[in-house]
Amino acid sequence: MSDRRKIGRPLAVILAIAAVWFAMSFVIENAYYALLLTIIPIWATFAISWNIFSGYSGLISFGHAAFFGLGAYTIALTSLHFDLTPWFGLPLAAIVGVVAGAVIGYPTFRLSGLYFALAMLAYPLSMVYVFEWLGYQEIILPMRPENPLWYMQFGSYHGYLAIALALLVLSVLLSLMIERSRFGLSLLAIKQNELAAEASGVDTFRWKMRALVLSGALAATAGGLYAVVVFVLTPGSVFGVIISAQAIILSLFGGAGIVWGPLIGAATLLPLSETLHAELGSVLPGIQGLLYGVAIMLVILLAPEGIYWRVRDLLKRRRGEAGAASAEPRGVAGPVGAKPSAPRPQPGETLLSVRSLSKTYGGLKAVSDVSFDVREGEILGIIGPNGAGKTTLFNMLNGIVVPDAGEIRFEGRDIAGLKPNRVCRLGIGRTFQVVRAFQRMGVLENVAVGAYVHADSEEQAWALAKEAVAMVGLADSKDTLASTLTSKELRLMELARALASRPRLVLLDEPLAGLGSTETEELMSMVATLPAHGITVIIIEHTIGAMVDLADRFVVLDHGRFLTQGAPRDVTRDPRVIEAYLGQRWAAKHA
Ligand code: ATP
Repeated sequence: MSDRRKIGRPLAVILAIAAVWFAMSFVIENAYYALLLTIIPIWATFAISWNIFSGYSGLISFGHAAFFGLGAYTIALTSLHFDLTPWFGLPLAAIVGVVAGAVIGYPTFRLSGLYFALAMLAYPLSMVYVFEWLGYQEIILPMRPENPLWYMQFGSYHGYLAIALALLVLSVLLSLMIERSRFGLSLLAIKQNELAAEASGVDTFRWKMRALVLSGALAATAGGLYAVVVFVLTPGSVFGVIISAQAIILSLFGGAGIVWGPLIGAATLLPLSETLHAELGSVLPGIQGLLYGVAIMLVILLAPEGIYWRVRDLLKRRRGEAGAASAEPRGVAGPVGAKPSAPRPQPGETLLSVRSLSKTYGGLKAVSDVSFDVREGEILGIIGPNGAGKTTLFNMLNGIVVPDAGEIRFEGRDIAGLKPNRVCRLGIGRTFQVVRAFQRMGVLENVAVGAYVHADSEEQAWALAKEAVAMVGLADSKDTLASTLTSKELRLMELARALASRPRLVLLDEPLAGLGSTETEELMSMVATLPAHGITVIIIEHTIGAMVDLADRFVVLDHGRFLTQGAPRDVTRDPRVIEAYLGQRWAAKHA
């Protein structure tokens, strides 16, 4: 495990910050600022809970107040009606958060983008009305002078502050563990390209659900502790729009997608806004809202991804890392292996069998009644004119598109209609016509997303990723950000990501698009070595010259229909193929 994946040092930093924060409570005598000292770690925890879901996965939640408010009301109602101590109430609030996360996530994950964000907003808003209707307009937690410690009622703020800081340290620890594991990598992959993540074996629904459930638990616990500290609740004060907005603003200001972001946001904006409110609130009511508005405008103008990312990029640039990474395309070591004509194993048993496969869009038959077989160890080229249905066929083979009719058998098992991550886990890898890279990740991290499919441990996944990166010749660029790679490197990286999942079959969709002739040759040489590694290949490509040398067989599609199949040199001489696709000029030139 590399240094950046260890959590010891960042954990020590947050423990030191918590210790200093706690020490400050002995210096501050003003009751308002002492309360503020306790409330800030609670809001920071809430913002971290938002970041665990929205910051990492990219699915913006406008509705985290739902969890916060449910946690707060769990404490208030169990205390009021069942005499329950918050020592048990807080874990109960966490459980309520878990259940709410599952109940909210299950239907809402069907939506994406803005629709998801708006749907999330509906939950806390509806809860305001539900709790008002239930008669809980205002709840005051009962005082327990007979046994204050048992009911978490302390004589000074130190007790509350210690619990708030403990919760904050726990939430930072959770975040760090997520960031440095398969969990975080999967969420970041989802954020940057959900379809590519699915095709690389990431069960996107499950990871999103895990993130929301965990985030809900943390947010509800923060809400519960808030109730313990402030004593008085109204539905508006815990389910209100401003509550969700607070978590979002703190995270976006500090930097979403990294644990330090919400902490930076909470440590800067909250003291500032609360101090302004305390000092100027009577003359300038609503000064906090104004400050948040200005903060968001500044972030949009100066650091759209938040302060953390802006400072990190500046520091990197100053150290010359970013410059060195993007100035010159790094030399890519020649891919291991042979020329397209290298000896290859004889094709074996049928690996994939496609029967009567069809897909219609409106009245258009994108793929119509297509049947063919692929044998183990073979390189099959799928060719045909633009719009022939080649990519739609690939999309059905790896589960992105559900066929209207027909059968896809892989190793004898019907896989038609399975989700892409299931298809990947069964042994079919995929690259895309337009490369789907996880732009903010390095080469090795991109590839590791695929490597987890068959890895038993973190170490094994990273070892597999390294192996795949070396196999395509990108070992020297393993830490380079995907966003700075050349077209060829991107294609190789995507291939490595597919190979890291240890596929039996890879689907390559126009891997040569955008490459020059030398690069084409190099990439084809790489592909030619795959059967020797036990990997069967189906490749869509328009560069027919290279394909004739590479493929064992062609299947030709035209207008969604199967036209013919056979040895490349026979197929390219077939008058039907010349008429439908290659054209007379090509035929004359290659006669
Ligand atoms: P190219 O070589 O240009 O990539 P292709 O052979 O891969 O083409 P497809 O992308 O599979 O062809 O498209 C086949 C037909 O289906 C085209 O007419 C295309 O416009 C149509 N099509 C593909 N996807 C959709 C969709 N999601 N909705 C509607 N029509 C679609």
